[in-house]
Amino acid sequence: MIFREIGVVPDPQSPDVMILKLSLHNVNVSERALPWEFLLGDIVTIPEERIRDILAIVFQKGWKQRVDILSRQVFHFATDFVLSPISIEPEFVYYTTTVQNATNVAPYLVLDKIVKELAPPNYKLDRMLFQFPGHFASVSSLIAKTLRSAIQAVMMIVAYNTYHPYTLGYNNTEKERWEDICYKYIDRRLPWIAGKFFLDKAYSEEKRRFVDTLTEELKSTYLQRVLNLDWISDVAKRLIQEKLFGLIVKIGYHKSTPNATNATNLGDYYNDVNITDSLFNNALSIRHWDSDPLWNLLQRLVNKSVWPEIAGITQASIYYSEVPSYLSFSSTGMIAAHEMTHSLDTNGRLWNEKRQYRTWRDEKSIENFNNRKDCLINQYSDIRAVNHLGDPVFSTDGKPLFGNGSFTISENIADGGGLATNWEARVQHEKKEPSQLLPGLEGFTKQQLFFINFAQNWCSMETPSSTRENIQNGAHAPPFARVLGALQNSKGFSDACKCNTALICELW
Ligand SMILES: [Zn+2]
Repeated sequence: MIFREIGVVPDPQSPDVMILKLSLHNVNVSERALPWEFLLGDIVTIPEERIRDILAIVFQKGWKQRVDILSRQVFHFATDFVLSPISIEPEFVYYTTTVQNATNVAPYLVLDKIVKELAPPNYKLDRMLFQFPGHFASVSSLIAKTLRSAIQAVMMIVAYNTYHPYTLGYNNTEKERWEDICYKYIDRRLPWIAGKFFLDKAYSEEKRRFVDTLTEELKSTYLQRVLNLDWISDVAKRLIQEKLFGLIVKIGYHKSTPNATNATNLGDYYNDVNITDSLFNNALSIRHWDSDPLWNLLQRLVNKSVWPEIAGITQASIYYSEVPSYLSFSSTGMIAAHEMTHSLDTNGRLWNEKRQYRTWRDEKSIENFNNRKDCLINQYSDIRAVNHLGDPVFSTDGKPLFGNGSFTISENIADGGGLATNWEARVQHEKKEPSQLLPGLEGFTKQQLFFINFAQNWCSMETPSSTRENIQNGAHAPPFARVLGALQNSKGFSDACKCNTALICELW
């Protein structure tokens, strides 16, 4: 419960081998697996009264005085935990060491015992990914000075909040339970079962081929654009070129482990999940099933065929097969080039084509990247939240609401690179195969329709509470910011709409 994640990942130094990964709870808070996922640091957001109520439910009656004292201790622990120093230097993000060294750095977390108990019996390899060791050390000291009973109470609060959403008593939003919890749960935890129904009904080889061709075009344009940029050194460009040559583009869906179109194979894959009428029991069963294969992975080699898939997105209103190319580029193409640009976002740029952790070995290029990244962070943090009518959305205490540029930086980088790449690919494509104007919309140029279609992909209606929730937890900027931010940074948009304003930020 103290840990955000105990998992298995490719070794950043030697990516053919899987190693353990341990991270603490308040790292990467924006990347929650499920929107209601409860992290240890979240305890500070619960009023002390509520903590008391939960502890009173967990403990028996007649413990009132003890519950009062404990809830205060829990609150202090969580506050100290959230405030414990954390260095986010990139060299500590992918820091690896031995389990013994990690145990010495943070003795009160007893990492050696945890690994011994959870790893397969014949597990030999001892290296582990140990993110932010300084943070582990300070949390270890915090545990050392906290009473055992308080730690136990903290665990109970986290366990209660982790499983509470699966009980009938949970009601957090205006949405119905099936939509708010069950639907999202199936989508995230049993994705291949949900995906099978989609693939049977709505996917085809023709779609796959179309996206494949479009993606290849975008890949070469993306590479050319990056090589033409003037803020990266030739040394860094060579490394980027090697990386982009090594980029494996996979379109569609999983063909193995599991094969997403084969019901028998899916049945075998999910065989140990026990599905009943109780969501709570299902969540427990899936969690248990999920952790076993993870530990077995430790003994296996890296499966390099696991890549993000986009089968589900090739449908209206993103994908249409017979439309002018400028519309395909600004919708389907946007998804593909966005994903490609992730290979050079804040995290992606730290890895080479073999998935090894390697920086560019060029201070000036790194400094330029960071300045441009900071520009994007400030830009998106200044975008004010609005609803679908353009009216402002406020925080719960009535203050103006703005985006969170830091949380969403990787996605905003991918949006900017994706838009610029598609714009350029569209120009090249148009030279080879001139497209037609849209009947009935002849008042717009092809260039303008490219951007209108791009923006239309993000048309949405949200309640103020879901806008607030998305800004607080989302790794992506809200739809209005994804349109506004990307267009403010697009030279193509400025030309197409004759805005002639200076671009705010440019990265890829
Ligand atoms: Zn993305």
